Amino acid sequence: MSDLEPFRAETRAWLADNCPAECRGPLADDEMIWGGRNPTFKTPEHKLWMERMGARGWTAPEWPKEYGGGGLSREEAKVLASELRRIKAQPALNSFGVWMLGPALLAFGTEEQKQRFLPEIVRGEVRWCQGYSEPGAGSDLAAIQTRAEDRGDHWIVNGQKIWTSYADKADWIFCLVRTDPEAPKHLGISFVLFDMRTPGVTTRPITLISGKSPFCETFFDDVRVEKENLVGTLNRGWDVAKHLLAHERTMIGAMGEVGGGRPVGQVALDAIGADDDGRLDEPMLRARIAEMEIDAAAFRLAMERVGDQVKAKQAHPAIASMLKYYGSELNKRRHELLMAAGGADALEWEGERSHDGKTARDWLRTKANSIEGGTSEVQLNIIAKHLLQLPGA
Ligand SMILES: Cc1cc2nc3c(=O)[nH]c(=O)nc-3n(C[C@H](O)[C@H](O)[C@H](O)COP(=O)(O)OP(=O)(O)OC[C@H]3O[C@@H](n4cnc5c(N)ncnc54)[C@H](O)[C@@H]3O)c2cc1C
Repeated sequence: MSDLEPFRAETRAWLADNCPAECRGPLADDEMIWGGRNPTFKTPEHKLWMERMGARGWTAPEWPKEYGGGGLSREEAKVLASELRRIKAQPALNSFGVWMLGPALLAFGTEEQKQRFLPEIVRGEVRWCQGYSEPGAGSDLAAIQTRAEDRGDHWIVNGQKIWTSYADKADWIFCLVRTDPEAPKHLGISFVLFDMRTPGVTTRPITLISGKSPFCETFFDDVRVEKENLVGTLNRGWDVAKHLLAHERTMIGAMGEVGGGRPVGQVALDAIGADDDGRLDEPMLRARIAEMEIDAAAFRLAMERVGDQVKAKQAHPAIASMLKYYGSELNKRRHELLMAAGGADALEWEGERSHDGKTARDWLRTKANSIEGGTSEVQLNIIAKHLLQLPGA
């Protein structure tokens, strides 16, 4: 018996008792649990599920216990993930706080900031958004123009962010601001946190081709930001921003690994039917699906290997770009195949039979995977320069 078997048995028993039946199986995107000050839950059981997992620290299993996390080792966290998969548990909490801000605070935050912000992130009590991109600063993120003027014990922030996902629903923002306009562009940026209810913050939703949109434009008009909410060193926010981006990119890459929903082969089989040998009766599509599934299996192993390297502090900082690039391209391929497998039915945009065009809307959503968190072209530049060390153009 491996050392982890008692932990597995204990975890399995706890999940059997604590993961409600309503929280197992597929969950639509718009039913996901995001927590926050004004949370919405599909059912009361979903609230319970978030609260129970949060109280145990299992919404952030590997964070230290003193900050509300689960305190699990990497191996234990893998066991927990596999037990959650086994019972098809829905995510107890989706959270930019867990995926992005938390790791940055653990690395750069003061003790006071960690004590203040991390436990409420774990419990899903505060919902965060990301104020990075601006109309003139996307791939060239260090070109941000949002200004923070020093007023002694606080700053006054003015400027505009764009593509701020869920800004209209978020409680707090982690934000890049320019604190030294005279310095070279990477050296005059600071990383600050503030409440979205602060006077002078406004948001305006943006609509997308899929008909749904998480996006907002976010405007700052003389917004007061307390100095205690600076993360890391003044004017060195670029270091914090990059650390956070590595976590964001790994998280987006993981979409390629997870897949979610019914296996593509099964969807195709239902739509097209089987040949005399029980195989998908469409050899070309069958080959493309097999190729994608093999690549996905290899990618899962690569993710696991990199995860171990990160934990052992042996990972190259640019490796997240490789995961982000490959995972998002893989996810796009998977959804292309789902469209191909679904035939004309997959194009249906509205109606009960198609769950209001879920296949088509999900496919369109994946187009954004290779843009959000840094475009595929930019990831390829990073891979070429930092991992492959190719000569610059
Ligand atoms: C779904 C989604 C969610 C997002 N959520 C957020 C959020 O919550 N907060 C936030 O701050 N931002 C968010 N973003 C914004 C995202 O970070 C930017 O869209 C992204 O960084 C690209 O910037 P841009 O849109 O300005 O494109 P641009 O930088 O203008 O790029 C345009 C094109 O030029 C190419 N290009 C640019 N520079 C180079 C180069 N050096 N070499 C080769 N090609 C290049 C790009 O690859 C792209 O194809 C989100 C984006 C999406 C799609």
